[in-house]
Amino acid sequence: MAEKNLESLFHDTLKDIYYAERKIVKALPKMARGAKLPELKAALEKHREETEGQIERLQQVFEIFGKRAQGKTCPAIEGIIEEGEEILDEFKGAPALDAGLVSAAQAVEHYEIARYGTLKRWAEMLGMKDAAKLLDQTLSEEYKTDELLTKLADQAANQKAQAA
Ligand code: FE
Ligand code: FE
Ligand code: FE
Repeated sequence: MAEKNLESLFHDTLKDIYYAERKIVKALPKMARGAKLPELKAALEKHREETEGQIERLQQVFEIFGKRAQGKTCPAIEGIIEEGEEILDEFKGAPALDAGLVSAAQAVEHYEIARYGTLKRWAEMLGMKDAAKLLDQTLSEEYKTDELLTKLADQAANQKAQAA
C-alpha cells in the first residue's frame, strides 16, 4: 500500500483502535477493582466483556478489508490509561476516587467514539457495508457506556466527591 489514500488512512486507524482496544481490555479490570460504587464496578466489568466482543469485531473488519489483524502503537490511549492509573494511585481511599474513575473512563470512551465514528464513515465510503455495520455496533456500545458513566457521575459519584 504505497499510496497514501483513504484506504491507507482506514488501515492505519483500524490498527490504532485495535491496539487501543487491547490496552483497554487490560486496563478495565484494574479500574473495576478500584471502583467503590457497586454500580460503577458493575458497569466497568460489563464493559470489559463488551470490549472482548469489540476486539473480535475488529478482527472481522480486518478480514473484510483483506488484511491481517495487527495493532499499531496508539500514544493517545497509552496517555489516557496512564492518567487513569494516576487517579487510581493518587485518590486511593478518597471519597473522590469514583468521580475520578468515571472521568478517566469517559476519556477512554470519547477517544473510542472519535475513532469508530470516523472508521464507520470511511468503511461506508470504501464500499464495505458489513464492516461499517460492525463498526457502528461498537460505536453504539461506546455511546451507551459513556451515557451510563454520565448517569453514575450525576446520581452518585460527583456528590460523594463534593460531600467530602
Ligand atoms: Fe471499545
Ligand atoms: Fe491513537
Ligand atoms: Fe469502550
